[in-house]
Amino acid sequence: MLNKINSSIYYLSNDDAKERPTIGLVCGDKYSLVIDPGNSVQHAQDFLKEIANLTIPQVEYLVITHGHWDHFLGLNEFGGKIIVNSLTNQMLKNWQRYSFEDDSLQKYVDSHIMSSKCMEIIKSEISMRDSFFLNSADIIFEESLTLDLGNKICTLETIKSTHTEDSTIIYVPDDNVLFLGDSAYGKTTNSLFHYKQSLLLPMIKDILKYDAHYFVLGHESLCDLDEMNVYWEELIATSKATDSTSIDKAMKQFEAAPLSNPHP
Ligand SMILES: [Zn+2]
Repeated sequence: MLNKINSSIYYLSNDDAKERPTIGLVCGDKYSLVIDPGNSVQHAQDFLKEIANLTIPQVEYLVITHGHWDHFLGLNEFGGKIIVNSLTNQMLKNWQRYSFEDDSLQKYVDSHIMSSKCMEIIKSEISMRDSFFLNSADIIFEESLTLDLGNKICTLETIKSTHTEDSTIIYVPDDNVLFLGDSAYGKTTNSLFHYKQSLLLPMIKDILKYDAHYFVLGHESLCDLDEMNVYWEELIATSKATDSTSIDKAMKQFEAAPLSNPHP
């Protein structure tokens, strides 16, 4: 379902059953920007069908928030310039070497290069797989990039993240909206889901420097400032508890967690 935050910002909600993350849309007077092109050809086409009903400027830019397959495999369906940071670009280049036929996909799954869920989605939601080849990025940036969509500025920044090293967030200052992609999540290594502690506080600091009132997340859709603050507080309390020298002290850290305005 396409949701409207205000007259210039929309998002298509995530759909966990199909491993589909949120797709964002920011519209200026001249151009529109899409944030993450979806996990497949079908996902991208479903999004394009939704926005075909809007009166908006052409999609001139497309930014990929990080190099996880579910955030970029739909990119060929868009005509705009593809924007990535240099780390995400390396991951896209790796994917350009892959073949999408059944035998190859199975080999990637067997060698743990690809998850079986990813293979399943590729098989069911990308047609013409024998000729499928991902387009290359058009604009590659290092730390940050500013786009002017026509009276609508968007700031793209590569931040420290507990999810991936290549996380890009997108801030729209006029509207106090921050697109986080998956940057605020942890990651799974050897079947263990975790947040890397040394990155947690720097990441929260990077995100809190923006005066955002609304946050669009890859697999949650929209959160307001209060919801994000509760999330940060829980993570900070957990981090402090991990540093505690006893269970008693750890429990006190949870009890002492502030209810708002964390100051990492
Ligand atoms: Zn991710």
